[in-house]
Amino acid sequence: MNSDRKNAIASVLAHEDGAESELKPFTAEDYGIDVFHFTRMKDRLPKPVYQKLMDTVGEGQPLDSTIADAVAHAMKEWALEKGATHYTHWFQPLTGATAEKHDSFLDPVGNGQAILSFSGKNLIVSEPDASSFPSGGIRSTFEARGYTAWDPTSPAFIKRGRNGATLCIPTAFCAYAGEALDKKTPLLRSMQTLSKAVKRLMMCFGDDGTKNVRVTLGPEQEYFLIDESFYYARPDLVQTGRTLFGAPPPKHQQLEDHYFGAIKPRILAFMTDVDSNLWKLGIPAKTRHNEVAPAQFEIAPVFEELNLAVDHNMLLMEVLRRTAEKHGLVCLLHEKPFTGINGSGKHNNWSLTYGNVNLLNPGSDPHQNAIFLTTLCAIVMAIDKHSDLLRTSTASAGNDHRLGANEAPPAIISIFIGEQLADIIDQIEKGSLKSSKQAGTMRIGVDTLPALPRDSTDRNRTSPFAFTSNKFEFRAPGSSQSCAGCNVILNTIIADSLNEVAGELEKLPKAGFNSGLQELLRKIIKAHKRIIFNGDNYSTAWKEEAARRGLPNFPTTPDALKALVAPANIALFEKYGVFSRVEAHSRYEIFTEEYHRKIRIEGELSLNMARTIFLPAGSKQLSELAKTIAVMSGTDLKAGFSTQKAMAETIGRLLDSIHAECGRLEKALSLRDGSAKIVDSMAALRKSVDFLEKNVDDELWPLPKYREMLFIS
Ligand code: ADP
Ligand code: MG
Repeated sequence: MNSDRKNAIASVLAHEDGAESELKPFTAEDYGIDVFHFTRMKDRLPKPVYQKLMDTVGEGQPLDSTIADAVAHAMKEWALEKGATHYTHWFQPLTGATAEKHDSFLDPVGNGQAILSFSGKNLIVSEPDASSFPSGGIRSTFEARGYTAWDPTSPAFIKRGRNGATLCIPTAFCAYAGEALDKKTPLLRSMQTLSKAVKRLMMCFGDDGTKNVRVTLGPEQEYFLIDESFYYARPDLVQTGRTLFGAPPPKHQQLEDHYFGAIKPRILAFMTDVDSNLWKLGIPAKTRHNEVAPAQFEIAPVFEELNLAVDHNMLLMEVLRRTAEKHGLVCLLHEKPFTGINGSGKHNNWSLTYGNVNLLNPGSDPHQNAIFLTTLCAIVMAIDKHSDLLRTSTASAGNDHRLGANEAPPAIISIFIGEQLADIIDQIEKGSLKSSKQAGTMRIGVDTLPALPRDSTDRNRTSPFAFTSNKFEFRAPGSSQSCAGCNVILNTIIADSLNEVAGELEKLPKAGFNSGLQELLRKIIKAHKRIIFNGDNYSTAWKEEAARRGLPNFPTTPDALKALVAPANIALFEKYGVFSRVEAHSRYEIFTEEYHRKIRIEGELSLNMARTIFLPAGSKQLSELAKTIAVMSGTDLKAGFSTQKAMAETIGRLLDSIHAECGRLEKALSLRDGSAKIVDSMAALRKSVDFLEKNVDDELWPLPKYREMLFIS
C-alpha cells in the first residue's frame, strides 16, 4: 500500500484509548473555577463598586468609568493567583474566529525592577493594531485603528496553556468613530432593541414594563473527529477543512448504527476531557452523543443568556479543537467535511423571558396564554417579512453544501408550529377560536383563555425554524458559524414585529382590548400564514408549493447575501441602530469577498491535487497495465489479455477526462468573477477523480480513503 496511507493507518491502530490518568474526578466546586464571575466579584469588590457594576450589567446602564480601577485591581489579583502572566482583550472580528493579543502584567519601574500592573484603562479599552482584520472599507474611510471595549456582561476567564495562563477579557471591537468591526457589538445592540420592544408590549398587557428581558440561547454543536494521521495526509482537509475528493464508501450511515450508539473509549476520553475543561470555564456542557454520520458527534450546553451563550459557543469550539489535538485527533467543524455523508449544523435554540416568565411558554393561565399567542404571532410575522435576512445570516461557502442537501433544512425558510398550535392559529384566523384540539372552550380574550396544553406533536426534523415546546429552534446555521449573526437578525426582526403589534394594541380602548387583540392576531395570521409549514421540508412538492406561496429561495451564498444591503433591510437596521448603512455594506463586502476567496482556494487546491496526486497515481496504474500488455502481446497468452486492455482503457479514459477538466477548472480560475464556474468545474473534476479512486489498485491510492478516515480511530 502507498506508504503514507499505510503509516497513517498503522499509527492510528497503535493509538491508546485516551489519557485517562490525567483526569481527576470533577467536583461541583470546580465549576467555573477559571471564571471571574459575578459571585467572585461580589466577594472581592467593595460593595458600592459591585453595585455600580451590577447596574451596568443588569439594567443596561452605561459603564461608570470611576469603578474601572477597582474592578481591574481585583481582577488582576485573582488572575495572578490563577497563575496568569498576561492579559488580553478577547474579541470576535469578522473573520468568524476569535482574536487575542496578549500583554504581560509586567511593568518595568527602573533600576532593573518591575511591578505587575493592570489599570482600569487597561481593562476598559485597548487599541490592538487591527489593520489586518476585515473592515469592508470602514477603516480606510475613517481611521486606521481598531478599539476593543470591555463587555462587563460577559465575565473574564482564564485560558490555560502548557506553561502558563492568560486572563481573557471579553470585548467589543470597533473603529474610531464607533462603527462595529465585530460580531458582538451588533448583538448587544439588537438585544437592547428587543428588550425595549418586549417591555413596550408587556405594558400593553397591563405590566409596568420594568422587569428584566432575557434573550436565551442553547446552541447544539455538531462536529466530526478523525485521527490526526489521516488529517495530515490529506492536503484538502488541512487547507480547506473539507475533503475536496473522496468516494463515499459502500457503508456509511445507511444502517443508522452510529446515532446515539455506544461511544468508543478513545472518543469518550476526549469528550470527558472537553467537558471538564468547559465546566472550569463555567460553560454548562450538558449532553454528548454520537450523531448520524460515522465519526460525527454533538455537544449541547444548558441554555444561557444570549450574549454569554454566544461567547461560550466560540470558546467551546476552541476547546473542542485544542482538546482533540491533545488526544491525537482533529475536530472538523466544517459544515460538510465529507460529501455524501451528513453535514454539521448548529441548532440555535432561542427564547425570550420577561421577569421570570418565558414568553414562548403556553403557560397555565389565560393572561399568559394571550401574551404567548401574541408573541407567537409576532414571530410568525417577523419570519415571514424577513426570511431573506434570516437566510442571509446562515450563508457561507461551507453551509451551501448543507442547506437543501436532504439532511439539513432547505434554503427556503418556513416555520413549524406543530399540529395543535396550527389548529389554534387556524381558529383565530377564522375568528372562531372556541376550543383547542385537546379540550375545553377557549377564546383569545385575556380572561377567558384556558390553559394551553404543551405541544405533544412529533418534532419535525426537516423544518428550518421549529417551535419546540417553549423555544424556537433555528436549524439552518452552520457548525462553524458564530451564533451572533443569526441572533442579531432574529432579535431585530422580532423586535420590529413586537413594536408593530404594540403600536396597534396601544390604540385600543381598554374596554375593547380583548376583541381588538383577537382581531389583530387574525389579521396577522391571514397576512403571514404562508410561512407556516408543518410538512416534509425535503420534498420537491414543498419546493413547488413554497414557490407558489411566494417564499424566497436562495440556494447559494452570493444570492443570499444580497438581502443584507436591500434598501428596506438597511432601513430596518438603521431604524433600530443595529447596523448603520456603512456597517451593513461593510459586512456585505466582507462576507461576499470571503465566499469568493474560499471558492478560489478550493479551486486552486483541487487543480493542484488533480495534477500532482491523482493524475500521477492513475498514470502509475496505467503504466503497470501497459507493461503487462506489452509483455503479454509477445506471448501466446490469451486469457486475461482483453481484461488488461479493458482496464487500461478505463484508466486511460479517466485520465483524459481529468486532464480536460483540469483545463476547464484552470480557465475558470483565470476569470475575475469565476466562482460559479469554479464550483461547477470542481464538481465535474471530482466526479472523475472519485471514479478513478474506485478503479485504481488500492495499493497505489495515495490518500486516506473515506472508509479509513470515518471508521478507524
Ligand atoms: P433537542 O432539541 O436535541 O431535543 P432539547 O430540546 O432538550 O434538545 O434542548 C436543546 C437545547 O435547547 C439545549 O441547549 C437546551 O438548553 C436549549 N433550551 C431549552 N430551553 C430553552 C430556552 N428557554 N431558551 C433557549 N434554549 C433553550
Ligand atoms: Mg435540537
